This record gives sequence, C-alpha cells and structure tokens, in this order.
Amino acid sequence: METRVLEKTRYQLHIGGEWTDPISGEWFDSHNPYAGEAWAEVPRGNAEDVDRAVEAAHAAFTQGDWPKLRPTARGSLLRKLGDLVADNAESLARIEVRDNGKLIAEMLGQLRYIPQWFYYYGGLADKIEGSVLPIDKPGVFNYTVHEPLGVCAALTPWNSPLLLLAWKVAPALATGNTVVAKPSEFTSASTLAFAEIFYQAGFPPGVLNVVTGYGPEVGATLVEHPEVAKIAFTGSETTGQKIYEAAARGLKRCTLELGGKSPNIVFDDAILDDAVKGVVSGIFAATGQTCIAGSRLLLQESIHDEFMEKLLELARSARMGDPSDLNTQVGPATTPPQYEKILKYIDIAKEEGAKLVLGGGPATGPECGKGGWFIQPTIFTGVTNGMRIAQEEIFGPVLSVIKFKDEEEAVEIANDIVYGLAAGVWTQNIRRALLMADRLQAGTVWVNTYRAVSFTSPFGGYKRSGIGKENGAEMIKEYMQEKSVWISTATEVPNPFVLR
Ligand code: NAD
Repeated sequence: METRVLEKTRYQLHIGGEWTDPISGEWFDSHNPYAGEAWAEVPRGNAEDVDRAVEAAHAAFTQGDWPKLRPTARGSLLRKLGDLVADNAESLARIEVRDNGKLIAEMLGQLRYIPQWFYYYGGLADKIEGSVLPIDKPGVFNYTVHEPLGVCAALTPWNSPLLLLAWKVAPALATGNTVVAKPSEFTSASTLAFAEIFYQAGFPPGVLNVVTGYGPEVGATLVEHPEVAKIAFTGSETTGQKIYEAAARGLKRCTLELGGKSPNIVFDDAILDDAVKGVVSGIFAATGQTCIAGSRLLLQESIHDEFMEKLLELARSARMGDPSDLNTQVGPATTPPQYEKILKYIDIAKEEGAKLVLGGGPATGPECGKGGWFIQPTIFTGVTNGMRIAQEEIFGPVLSVIKFKDEEEAVEIANDIVYGLAAGVWTQNIRRALLMADRLQAGTVWVNTYRAVSFTSPFGGYKRSGIGKENGAEMIKEYMQEKSVWISTATEVPNPFVLR
C-alpha cells in the first residue's frame, strides 16, 4: 500500500482496485484514543469520489471477470481472503487498537474469528439453489433462480469496523454483488488496510471499493446513489432513520442493525458467580461501546444485595489501561463526543435519583494514557425502568440495576422499551429459560451466557433495533433477488384475451 509516513500515516481511498487521492485534496486526522494524538490522515471523500466508487463497482458487476465467475470460483476467492485475513490478523488488530482504542485481547480474538465469515459464505456461494415448481397449469415448466442485486453499500460504525464489514462483504460477494464500503470517519484505517489484503486474494478490480469521509458527505451521497441497489447499515438509530428514508426514496433493499438497551436478567436460581461474570462482560467489555451491551441489569429482589456485593467486587477489579497491553480489561471511550455523551448520562442518572454505587466520572490515573477519554466503570442501583438511563442507549460502561419480583415482572420490564436487540437470562430452571426465551422481545436471547455471536446464527434487532438479519444461511437472500422463469411446452396457443 502506498502510504507516506510523514508525521502520520496518510491513507488513500481505494477505488477500482487502486489507491487514489480524494478529489477534495483534503485529509482529516484520526486519533489514537489512548495516546491522545492524531496518528493517521484519512482522505475526505466527497460526492465525486462516491460517483467514482459506485461506477467502479457497477462496472465490476456488469463487465469483466466478476460476472463471469461461477459461484464455486467466487467461493474460492472468499476462502483465500479468509486465509489472508488470518495471516494478517495481528497487524489488522493492531491498527484497530491504535485507531479505536479497542483492546488487543478483544481484537486478536475478533481478527482470528473474522476469517470464518469468508469461509462460511464462501462455502455457501455454490449452494444457493432455485426450485422447479409444480405449476397447476398444463404445458408449463417453471423454475426459479436467485440473482445478485448489483452494487451494495456497506456502512459501518466505529465500534467494530472490521467484524461488521465482514458481516456485509462476505454474503454480498458470495452472491455475486459488488461493494462500496464506507467506514466511520472515526475509525477508517482498518477498512483501508483490509482493502489492500482483499485484492491480494485475486478479486477483479472494483469488486470492493472504500470511500472514507464524513457521514453526511459520503454516507448520505452513497445511499442516495441511483446505481446502489442495496444498503447494509450498522449504526445509530438516528442515522438508520435517514438511511431508511433514502432507501424508500430510491426503492432500495435495506438492512439496518441499530442500537439497543438490552436486559441482562438474573433470577434467584442462577449460578451467581457465572451470572456476575456475564453481567460484567455484558457492560464493561469493549468499554460498554457495543450495540449488544447488557446495559440494564434486571435483578430478582431476593438476591439483590448478595449479587451486588459479588458484582461490585468483580467490577472494581477491572483493569483500565493501555489497550495494547494484553492484561488491560477496560479501554478508553473511542471518541471525544462519545466520552462526553457517557458523562452526560452519568449526570442524568444522578439527577434522576439513581444511586451511584461504583465509578461515576472520568478516570484520570497514570494508567489512562494521555488521551483523557477514560471513564470509570459505573453502576447505578435503584433505577426504575422509566428513567432515561434505563430507556436510552448510552454506549458506555454504565450499568443500570433494576429490581424485579417474579418472572412476570421481569418480562414486563424487559420488554417495556423501544429496543429489542438482545437479552440475557440467568437461571438453572429449564422451564423458566424456555419461557423467558419465548416471551422476550429481542432478536437474540442468551441463556447462561452473554455476548456470543457466530457466522452461523442470525443476528438482528426486533422493534427499533433494526430491520433484517445478518449472519446465518437464511440472510443470504437479503443480497439476492428471485426470478421465476416460465417456459411453455404447450402445443396449442391459448386465448390471448384471458389470464393464463
Ligand atoms: P452512526 O450512525 O453515527 O454512524 C454509522 C455510519 O453511518 C458511519 O459510517 C457514519 O459515517 C455514517 N453516517 C453518519 N451520518 C450519515 C448519513 N446522514 N447518511 C449516511 N451515512 C451516515 O453510528 P456510530 O456512532 O458510528 O455507531 C454507534 C451506533 O451503532 C450505536 O447506536 C450502536 O448501537 C450501533 N451499532 C449497532 C450494531 C448492531 O449490529 N445492531 C452494532 C454496532 C453498533
């Protein structure tokens, strides 16, 4: 990759299989949240760059080698890509740690897992079958085929850029589409580094293009582009609404993976030590900056005090510090606006009368680097479900603890919210586990575990947490359109003035 090392790494856009400067001739800084310094320069793409990228993706979809490739060959390329990502896992993980402040331990795990998306969808590429249908009319042979849509726009947020990119790129390419990716302006570097690895697998030029820049400039233009056939978006609810409006205007396919305020529900018959770990992993892993954060702890009142004691002990031991240190457990907020947002919600919680039992402000020790974006793991008890800290996504290490009496009340509180991304249930009672799984309004329910995802299992939100699914075999149809082919074998031509 042609990067010039000045004081900072200067990236370029990746369009039509080549590195290229942005038309604007402008770059903006990307910051290392731990070191508190700008480390990279990200190209400020604009509408013309979007045009170039979509044209390259459209040309790759309609001409050249890509449309001629059989599904098996597409699958081979994807599997090769999986191997290349595995080979480069450590360097990609380190870019993400530097750009995003994510923990190296988390990123090494993610990067070693991401190849599975390319293997899985690569394997699926030649197993997407149509049908021969038993038509109720004589003299007709009818069959169906699934065809790609065209250019897919993949828009990702800052919290897990490469994982969420893989969730989109792998199924889009397995089905023969081409992609224009738009990473978050806060964390663009890893997607650009991925583009270089991508082409080492042997994909024809233009199959994947990356345009970086600001959401309202690049993202908005990309989703409005008439040659974009499908939008795959992960991000906030507010942006999701704008994207859905754009999709409606263009009558485009659209999947939205949005926010959450997931309940982690602990019953009195749970193995409490396991549940404590599950609750901590739900809210403090990834500094709580995850859509599936278990940010509402619903705690059965009979075990409230005992559980809180154990929870506080573990939460207090969480090691904040340098994200590139394998022993660090909680890193910084990724961006200054996110840091401010988290602190604002801590203030709101105090004003609402919730009881602060842990943390509650910025963390400023020497272990917190120079960035100054660390926030103490924070827990509020005495929260009621009507409070803003129980209803609104904070996207940070802030846990709201809400008491409940029985199953009925747990279900009522858990579902009394606009979101429905995920839920956790901690119980040893199988009847209770099944009942809760049945009644919780969430796209994912974890029982006696939390924060688990797989390429084989569908992921997506109920209610305002999203539309459509990612992962699993079924979702592949989100990237395809079905064609029904009728072939007449009749020897007599029927009356042309009636419906056949
Ligand atoms: P965001 O909505 O601000 O940005 C997401 C992407 O959209 C970025 O690439 C951004 O540049 C782009 N964008 C911004 N404005 C745009 C516009 N007007 N038109 C088109 N694109 C635009 O989200 P974020 O702050 O980067 O990420 C955090 C949010 O993402 C949280 O709400 C979180 O819950 C959600 N999220 C959801 C999932 C999920 O799978 N459900 C996963 C991770 C994050």
